[in-house]
Amino acid sequence: MPNRRAFIAGAVGTALASAAGASAAKPPRHRVIACEESFLIPEILAENARAGSAGIPLITSDGPMASAAQALVDIGEGRIRSMDRDGIDMQLLMLSSPGVQVFDRDKAVALAALVNDRAAAACVRHPERLAALAAIAPQDPAAAARELDRAVNRLGLKGAVINSHTNNEYLDAVKFWPIFESAEALGVPIYLHPREPSLPMRAALEGPAVSGAAWAYAVETGTHALRIIGAGVFDRFPRLQLVLGHMGEALPFWLPRIDNRYLERFGTVRPPIKRLPSDYIRENFHITSSGMNYPAQLRMTIDVMGIDRTLFAVDYPFEKQSETMALAKALPLRAGEAPRFFEHNAVRLFRLDRAQKPD
Ligand code: MN
Repeated sequence: MPNRRAFIAGAVGTALASAAGASAAKPPRHRVIACEESFLIPEILAENARAGSAGIPLITSDGPMASAAQALVDIGEGRIRSMDRDGIDMQLLMLSSPGVQVFDRDKAVALAALVNDRAAAACVRHPERLAALAAIAPQDPAAAARELDRAVNRLGLKGAVINSHTNNEYLDAVKFWPIFESAEALGVPIYLHPREPSLPMRAALEGPAVSGAAWAYAVETGTHALRIIGAGVFDRFPRLQLVLGHMGEALPFWLPRIDNRYLERFGTVRPPIKRLPSDYIRENFHITSSGMNYPAQLRMTIDVMGIDRTLFAVDYPFEKQSETMALAKALPLRAGEAPRFFEHNAVRLFRLDRAQKPD
């Protein structure tokens, strides 16, 4: 029975073997920006403890995820020290899943604003090391659109995170589209991050090799992304950019078949959307490597998405930062790819060169 350490060592070894065939030239210096790094604030932990009693598994300060909770609430010196130790120059922070999306509407709206104020303050204290996405409450789409505007224009945040479904509803529902309209107008991306599957999907997505980040999250979130595409969101908002973590929640692997079946079904009738599903994936999505820093999967993603749409992420603290950096150093990147993967794509997509607090 292989253990975790042997698994990581094996993955690094495989990567180094395939990297050996690539350019041996010394790579140019670049920063390492990690783009899916979680945090929490104590007020959310407290609300989680209350909401968790309704049967939703949520991180609390004294539950089974207590040590993660400790790492998550530190958006100051302790986090910076861990980044120094592991070789991370900058983290893009986002409120840990499922964020405010499990709370009542008014509470969710208020907590999102509080979270964003705290995130902005942390970024102002460490402008070279931390940037952040906004938390928003899709329970109130108009308020979410306004909060995204405030977070970007007043607080200097870089976009928003939405943790997949909200009360079992997906963003293809037109009532949520004011959020997309706001993101497109502001020129900032929305990170579509997983949470536990919606009720209609949950029962089938359980079991030792299935539940959680093993498979369920990717199926749920990949499905969500395809629903957004199929609803015509990008025909309406053609400049909108979404971000998927976890190497695209399996979508890059699946794209030719999705197109093929789409054409089979709509090739001779009036199609519901203007372009092929893969066109939207390649032009309206960016993908990060959170929790999936493996050589074959990265190579294929770069081949499908292009190097300019593939970004590095750890998934701190749910993935070990030190292990991920060992994996990342062994990835089979070709000449010139590393600076884009680790730094430049993140700077461009999240506009990290803009002041943290414009006011
Ligand atoms: Mn994550």
